[in-house]
Amino acid sequence: MYDVIVVGARCAGAPTAMLLARKGYRVLLVDKATFPSDTMSSHFILARGAAHLKRWGILERIVATGCPEIRSRTIDVGSTSFTDAVEPTDGVAACYAPRRIILDQILVNAAVGAGVDLREGVHVQELLWEEEQVTGIRGFQVGGKEISEKATLVIGADGKRSVVARLVQAPTYSVAPTFTCGYYSYWSGVSLEGQEIYERDRRAIIAFPTHDKKVVVAVQWPSAQFDEVRRDIKGHFLETLEQYTPHLATRLGEGEQAERFIGTGDLPNFFRRSSGPGWALAGDAGHCKDPILAHGMSDAFRDAQLLADAVENGLSNTCSLQEALADYEQRRNEDAAPLYAFNCQMARLEAPSRDG
Ligand SMILES: Cc1cc2nc3c(=O)[nH]c(=O)nc-3n(C[C@H](O)[C@H](O)[C@H](O)COP(=O)(O)OP(=O)(O)OC[C@H]3O[C@@H](n4cnc5c(N)ncnc54)[C@H](O)[C@@H]3O)c2cc1C
Repeated sequence: MYDVIVVGARCAGAPTAMLLARKGYRVLLVDKATFPSDTMSSHFILARGAAHLKRWGILERIVATGCPEIRSRTIDVGSTSFTDAVEPTDGVAACYAPRRIILDQILVNAAVGAGVDLREGVHVQELLWEEEQVTGIRGFQVGGKEISEKATLVIGADGKRSVVARLVQAPTYSVAPTFTCGYYSYWSGVSLEGQEIYERDRRAIIAFPTHDKKVVVAVQWPSAQFDEVRRDIKGHFLETLEQYTPHLATRLGEGEQAERFIGTGDLPNFFRRSSGPGWALAGDAGHCKDPILAHGMSDAFRDAQLLADAVENGLSNTCSLQEALADYEQRRNEDAAPLYAFNCQMARLEAPSRDG
């Protein structure tokens, strides 16, 4: 019997498990992936996200892997363009873009280092119930062996298509349509120190440096163009750069594309009810938004902190667990709502063109 089972071991799940174990709780962390494991996501972490990592003692482990600091940001929407220094948050004046295969392993290691029981290659398929209360998980290990574990609380940190959310029938709210589709890739031999964001003619172009002196470049189009774009990803990608950011296209042309294109048209925008009897949701499982402003990972870290603090309140009887989890959801929403509104506005890709 565990205090908490966390399903999903990436940006939301691993830190939630780590923080709860550091508070002295017995925590099981399961993921169907086995780590090191990459995932579909570019990986720009805002200063507020990096501040969480610093507070948890994890930022220095990321920096030690050779992940560059990103200290400036250029935003260019055609009619307006400016470059500014990254605004410090809790003493952190830089953003970071660690590769997910590196970051997620560091997060999992930190959880295990805190005393979390980690089980990889476990696909959760059902929840255990006692009347209306979730009491555990049932799933299958790679190879088919069934596992079943019980806990006071089950946390779904299992991403935007969360199985936990589906099984508890968590309703969605503040749903906005899918605005964009996007592809990204990596270039070597290109000099770029800050983050660059361009919005032109219903396209967003985003570039930033990452590990191994590589540069990530992402392009987002209106979601209605997904089928057209994916028929010729490279053609559409390079044509967009040449047409709207020729200076960036020239710089990329001086280097070379180092990896394949990765992308999706599955970029939903929603909040989900994130707490109920014996269950809670964190990260994309509870609130998902278009990646245009790179809030997802930093939001997942925020959720981990808020949820771990709430669970401590609930399990130490400062208030009932149910009240503590409802308070978590409310605090998350207070923090997320203004950002979500602005994010949806940007994802509409309606910035004025240079001519307009
Ligand atoms: C194309 C793209 C680009 C993005 N770029 C950025 C960016 O630059 N910056 C940023 O901050 N955010 C970005 N995001 C958003 C970011 O990826 C997410 O917000 C973030 O990864 C959410 O983390 P999470 O831990 O909540 O979920 P996830 O990263 O989705 O992790 C969920 C985990 O749950 C596991 N899981 C799922 N179901 C089960 C199950 N049934 N049993 C066991 N395990 C299960 C999965 O294997 C996975 O490991 C981007 C997203 C996309 C799609």
